[in-house]
Amino acid sequence: MLGQMMTAPLLISSLVDHAARYHGQTEIVSVNTGGGTETVSWGSVARNAKALASALTGLGLSKQARCATIAWNNRRHLEIYFGVSGGGFVCHTINPRLFPEQLVYIINHAEDEVLFIDATFVPLVAAIRDQLTSLKHIVLLEARADEAAKTLPDIIAYDDLIASGDDRFEWPQFDELTASSLCYTSGTTGNPKGVLFSHRSTVLHSFACNLADSIGFSAMDVVLPVVPMFHVNAWGSPYACAMVGARMVLPGPGLDGPSLVALIDRHKVNIALGVPTIWMGLLGEAEKAGSSLESLRKTVVGGSACPPSMIKAFRDRYGVETLHAWGMTEMSPIGSVNQPLAKHLDLELDALHRLRENQGRPPWGVELAIVDDQGNPLPHDGKTQGELLVRGHFILDAYFRTSSEETLQNGWFNTGDVATLDPDGYLTICDRSKDIIKSGGEWISSVELENIAIAHPDLSDAAVIGARHPKWDERPVLVAVKAEGRNPTSDELLTIFDGKIAKWQTPDAVVFVDALPRNATGKVLKRDLRDTFANILMQ
Ligand code: AMP
Repeated sequence: MLGQMMTAPLLISSLVDHAARYHGQTEIVSVNTGGGTETVSWGSVARNAKALASALTGLGLSKQARCATIAWNNRRHLEIYFGVSGGGFVCHTINPRLFPEQLVYIINHAEDEVLFIDATFVPLVAAIRDQLTSLKHIVLLEARADEAAKTLPDIIAYDDLIASGDDRFEWPQFDELTASSLCYTSGTTGNPKGVLFSHRSTVLHSFACNLADSIGFSAMDVVLPVVPMFHVNAWGSPYACAMVGARMVLPGPGLDGPSLVALIDRHKVNIALGVPTIWMGLLGEAEKAGSSLESLRKTVVGGSACPPSMIKAFRDRYGVETLHAWGMTEMSPIGSVNQPLAKHLDLELDALHRLRENQGRPPWGVELAIVDDQGNPLPHDGKTQGELLVRGHFILDAYFRTSSEETLQNGWFNTGDVATLDPDGYLTICDRSKDIIKSGGEWISSVELENIAIAHPDLSDAAVIGARHPKWDERPVLVAVKAEGRNPTSDELLTIFDGKIAKWQTPDAVVFVDALPRNATGKVLKRDLRDTFANILMQ
C-alpha cells in the first residue's frame, strides 16, 4: 500500500451538512406565497431536509423515485432540493408556465411519484390530476392543506409530512454518479427533453460556480436568485450557496420591479441573478422609486444575451458590476462567465468595458470548441463564427431516456449556438443557429442588431428575425416594441444602426408589435415572429 487520500462520494447532502455545521445561524429570508416573509437559517433548512428525506423514505417510493416540484423560490423549495436528492430520490423541478399538455407529458415521462406544489398552482394541478398516471402523493407547500383539499382531495400539507419524519435522519451514502435532479428543456419545437444531473456533476458545478473567476459566492454574500428554482436549479445557486454558507434571499412569487427593489434594499442583497427581461423591470423601477440599489455589487445575467446598454446602466447609474454568463440546461448550466484577466488592467476604460460585454470564459470543468458545418475545427481568433460544441464534467452525456449516440457528436455536445472564441477563450454568442440571418451567403447576427435597437430610448423591447427575400434569401427585419409615450417612425429607427454595423447588415424593414412572444423561460419565440412576418419582404 502506498498510502493515499480519503475518498467519499461527492453527494448533495454534504453541501447542506456543511452549511448547517459551519453556517447554521446564517439566515435564509423567504417570501411566502401568501405574502409576508419569514427568516429561517441553514441549520433549520438542513433539519427539515433530513426530516423530509426520512418521511419520503417511509412512504416506500421506488428506488430513485422522481419527486417533482411546481413552486416559487422559497425556503420549503430549498429544503426539498436537499431532502429529496440527499435521500436518494430525484428532484424534478417543473416550470409552471408550460402549457398543461406539456406538464402532463413531462410528469408522465419522468414518472413522478410525488408532486410538491405551491398554493398558486392548485388549480393548475387540479385540472390535470386525472391524467397524471404515476403520481402517488401531492404535497402542498404550506402549514395546512384544508383549503386546497377541496379541489385536490388527496393533498397533504408539507409541514405535516415533515412532522412525520426524523430530523436526525442519517443521510444515505451511495455512488456519486447516482441521479440527483431532473430538468426538462423548454424547447421551441417537439416535446421537452429531460436533463438528468448527478450528485457528482452538481457538486463539481458548485465548485465551478464558486471559483473567484466565475461567480464566486462567499460566506460574506447575500444572494438573491431571481432566476426561478425551476430554471436549471436557479443556475445551481442553492447548491453553490450551501457550499460556502452564503446568505440567501428567496423572492417567492413577486418578480416584478417594485418587489425586487424592496427586497434588495431591505435585506442588503449584494449579488442577484436573473435573465435580462427581469432586470429591465428592476432598472425601470429603481429609477422611478429613486433607489440607488445601495447594497448591490454584482448582477449575474444570462439565459439570453445581456444587451450592453443594460451592463452600462447597472455600471454607470448604480455602480453594479454585471457578470455576463452563458449556459444551458444541458450544462448545469454555467458554460462561461465574463471576468477580466490581469493583462486587461492596462486597458483604456472604454476597451475594458467592451471586453466585459461578451459571454466570457469557461471555468474549469468546461471545454469549448467551434466547428464548421462539416464538423471541422475552426480557429479561436475572435472573428471566425462556427457551431459551438462543449464537453466537460457537468455537461450531459445523453438526454433522459436516450443514448449518448443520439445526443453527442464525437464526444461533444452541439449547443445549437453560433459563436466566436478568442485566443483567451472569450466566447461571443452570435445567435442560435436557427435564428442567424443568412443574407446572400453572409451571416448576420440578430443578437448584435438587437443590442443596438434595445439601447434606443424610443424602444422598450426589440427582436430581429430573418424574413424571406427574393434576391438575398433572407434579410433582417426589426420587430420593435415602442417605449411608453414614444412614437418613432420606421425610417427613424433604421438610422440608429448607422455607423454601428456594416451598412449591408441594416434591417430592411421595421414592424411594430405591442409585445414580443416569449417562452416559459423568457426567451423570445422567434419562430412565432417568423411565422407572422416571414413574407413581408416578398410583396
Ligand atoms: P436554456 O437551456 O433554456 O437555459 O437555454 C440555453 C440557451 O440560451 C443557449 O443555448 C443560448 O442560446 C441561450 N443563452 C443563454 N445565455 C445566453 C447569453 N448570455 N447570451 C446569449 N444567449 C444565451
